[in-house]
Amino acid sequence: MGLKTKKEYIESLRQLKPTAYMFGEKITSIVDNPRLRAGIEATAATYEVAEMKEFQDLAITTSPLINEPVNRFTLPPSSIDDLVARVKLNRKLGNWVGTCFQRCTGLDCLSTLSICTYDVDKKFGTHYYDNFIKFLKYMQKNDLTANACVTDVKGDRSLAPHEQPDKDMFLHVVERRDDGIVVRGAKAHQTGSLSSHEIIALPTRAMRKEDKDYAVAFAVPSDTPGLIHVVGRSSLDTREMDGCDLGNFRYSKYCPTLIFNDVFVPWDRVFLCGETEFAADMVVKFSSLHRQSHGGCKAGKIDCMIGTALVMMDYNGTNQAGHLKQKVIDMIHRAETLYGCCLASSYEGKKEASGTYFIDTVLANASKIHEGKEMAEAIRLMVDVCGGFVSDLPSDRDFENSEIGPLLKKYLKGSDKFSVDNRIKMYRLAEKLAMESADTISDIHGGGSPEAHRVTIFRESNVESKKKSAKRLAGVEG
Ligand code: SF4
Repeated sequence: MGLKTKKEYIESLRQLKPTAYMFGEKITSIVDNPRLRAGIEATAATYEVAEMKEFQDLAITTSPLINEPVNRFTLPPSSIDDLVARVKLNRKLGNWVGTCFQRCTGLDCLSTLSICTYDVDKKFGTHYYDNFIKFLKYMQKNDLTANACVTDVKGDRSLAPHEQPDKDMFLHVVERRDDGIVVRGAKAHQTGSLSSHEIIALPTRAMRKEDKDYAVAFAVPSDTPGLIHVVGRSSLDTREMDGCDLGNFRYSKYCPTLIFNDVFVPWDRVFLCGETEFAADMVVKFSSLHRQSHGGCKAGKIDCMIGTALVMMDYNGTNQAGHLKQKVIDMIHRAETLYGCCLASSYEGKKEASGTYFIDTVLANASKIHEGKEMAEAIRLMVDVCGGFVSDLPSDRDFENSEIGPLLKKYLKGSDKFSVDNRIKMYRLAEKLAMESADTISDIHGGGSPEAHRVTIFRESNVESKKKSAKRLAGVEG
């Protein structure tokens, strides 16, 4: 109990026996599968940095709930400083792993539930907050990782959950029993579900009263019976299986689809069941928090891309080229704008009724819109600076081949001051940073699609006060 080391975290995953498939086959050892292990290593970094002096101020904090040191990824924010620390830690971790480290979605769920379950109980006299606090203590005392299950597969987008021809298009309650509920459905884009001990499900959209069975939130262990993880394809996934041309030597990202094939959830792990008017509040809170999380991790990833571009300028002998330096500056300002917007959303945060702090949603969503466009631009700039070998680089196996390897190395040489092997490695990293689809698509759709960000910005902005000030300046009455 208490803070886990990286080793203990990985061993704790080894004890779990989830049902998982990849490339059409059942996987028996999650931890030893090279594709999944690269993702697990990224989450393990959140444990590793908690052991490192230079990260500890941000990574470890004290839980007012259990009065013990905990990993920040298990702590719903209880101050503005906590909101700010989330973003700062995410930036450092994004820079440390160069990809998604997967643990923030769980924290964003814990933070959402610590606000919403309190509000539901206040309105309906339910006991979801007690359930949640019991669960939170368990998470904190055992330093566990949770995965957020939010995005339903949704079926026909023009229809509400209860109107779907196939009722399972949204996760829903199929049975209410004395000891708990049984749920069925599927959730997509479950980044790191197999790197997690717990799966926390939240509703994915606003619900009407006819959608009662779909307004459900709960937590189950990631290896609970009936839960099936099917790992999605991504552009570079066979590299890890092959054990060559990795680019990022240590870390990667994978995203399963999760099928809830009649999964039982005991009542003390249920956090919403039928209170439809709170479904929207849960998804808005979660997605805004996750958009704030993104501003930290993606700024950290741009930092990696900036580093890659600068090192490649040295290796290529272009470090004096002014136009390339300008492009690096353009990358830096994109990272800092993203980061600054998320810090601002934290500093403008407010205390909710439960005591948990919540961010400024307009600023968090503005940051996510910025990310959706500007991460792509930062990638483009990195590729521009590095050169065309970000793609089409021969395989490491070609470089190791005794007949063609020496020839390839002769022709791949850049500046004489640097080794050709390092130049090849750095090109491969640039390829991974630019073209790993599991990560780059999340720049656009992670935490909800771009239109959802726009809708939230307009809804949450005080547009009336803006109209009022314009009228005042123009001398318009009323
Ligand atoms: Fe965390 Fe999401 Fe960033 Fe991954 S993409 S590191 S889960 S905020």
